[in-house]
Amino acid sequence: MRASDPGQASRARARMVERLRAQGIRDERVLAAMQAVPRHAFVDEGLAFSAYDDTPLPIGFQQTISQPFVVARMLELLRNGRELGRTLEVGAGCGYQAAVLSLLATEVYAVERIRGLLDRARANLRPLRLPNVRLKLADGSLGLPEAAPFDSIVVAAAAVGLPPALKEQLASGGRLIIPVGGAEQRLLLIERQGNTFRETWCEAVRFVPLIAGTD
Ligand code: SAH
Repeated sequence: MRASDPGQASRARARMVERLRAQGIRDERVLAAMQAVPRHAFVDEGLAFSAYDDTPLPIGFQQTISQPFVVARMLELLRNGRELGRTLEVGAGCGYQAAVLSLLATEVYAVERIRGLLDRARANLRPLRLPNVRLKLADGSLGLPEAAPFDSIVVAAAAVGLPPALKEQLASGGRLIIPVGGAEQRLLLIERQGNTFRETWCEAVRFVPLIAGTD
């Protein structure tokens, strides 16, 4: 993939979106957002040719960007047909998912615990000029109290259990999606109505672990 050939990148994204449809993704807003965001611009140039394959990719610091299907599935579950509203992403990584979220949410707060990755996410997002994304160095297992409550929370790293702060910072009517587990993980969807939290277990996934503290 050459950044100098936007047509080639756009066609590769169209093929990715067709594959996501074949894999069962139905949310047209999610598909349109993934068609719009140049995923190849978020990975090393040497990996750009694989950017639209259905595979996770290394982003440095022993972290990975999730495969397109997992990003699409999580956002489809999170959205459930509604606007995402005020949204928290825990684990900004290279910033790819934050860019996709920016097209689906009114405001995106993306937190990352590794400073070098946060710098990378900033540099990747800058040319896209997305006015509704804010990045912050923080331990996302504590949420982001100064910006809470959130209508939507998406966690991009696997927790052993649902961090209580995230549950508390979810607005009534809000939805939260998080991979839970160790060697075996599943997506857990939480829907809040007042003080009632409905839990639904979804598909098996494999994420890097959620780690406390910042570096
Ligand atoms: N969504 C990212 C991929 C995330 S990989 C993207 O689109 O590129 C998971 C990320 O979660 C890693 O960058 C890791 O450093 C981060 N992470 C792990 N534990 C965290 C925590 N407690 N708070 C914030 N970020 C965390």
